[in-house]
Amino acid sequence: MAHRFPSPCRTGAAYRGARLIFKCGIACGRGTSYDAEMIDGGTGIAFATKQSCETIHVVAALKTLLDPGMNSWFFHWCPSHEGIEWNEAVDGDAKEAAQLSIEHDECSLAHARHLLAVQLRADGRDEYRSSPAYRGQNFLRMKEFESPSHINSPALKAFGLSISAMARFCRAVLNHGPLGSFRRRFFPNELTECPDCGVLQDRAHVLLKQCKRYRRWWNCRGEFEFLQRVSPYHDFNSFLTANGGAFTFGDAPS
Ligand SMILES: [Zn+2]
Ligand SMILES: [Zn+2]
Repeated sequence: MAHRFPSPCRTGAAYRGARLIFKCGIACGRGTSYDAEMIDGGTGIAFATKQSCETIHVVAALKTLLDPGMNSWFFHWCPSHEGIEWNEAVDGDAKEAAQLSIEHDECSLAHARHLLAVQLRADGRDEYRSSPAYRGQNFLRMKEFESPSHINSPALKAFGLSISAMARFCRAVLNHGPLGSFRRRFFPNELTECPDCGVLQDRAHVLLKQCKRYRRWWNCRGEFEFLQRVSPYHDFNSFLTANGGAFTFGDAPS
């Protein structure tokens, strides 16, 4: 897990079998090699315990973490605030420690990340709601996008395993598909009509209205009506799945 560098920085890596699954470096400031080793070990253990695995091996380069006088580590679970004598004593000590004056406003990495994520989410939500310039003039406003998440994206869940499906998804949501409407704006000399219907091929024609080329289970006059459906996001995803050609260059007017 540990790798020593001359700079005040720790790096660690986690493997599943021989496969590297995570690596990171943390600038931990001035500290002893013991401090650094503990940060390193803590980071590694925090990551490892979030994985689905039965056994975790901690491998450390310095012996501080694996003191030669110790043969084994045991992790014990103990419920807190249930009157267990040692636990109550430790709890009391921790409460006392919390009263110690802190010279600088210190903040753990995990807490800093949490604060940042909360702030970014709130900022993103506000901007998205109030600013068409921020979210894009033609952004397809489905409620799944209202609350941004850096760890749990509905789009990745639905199409994350296919680059081409994800590309079609993004083009459709952002209204950046290779459609006639796009050509009309940027390539006025090229064809803009739907090859099957002979009318302007735009997102509404493909996704919402009568375009004969694609299968759909609705006929909406416009975006607003589509977004009023019970589950537009589900409908939208099933449309993309059922119509593999929709929003591809192959289906552009020709
Ligand atoms: Zn653009
Ligand atoms: Zn059509």
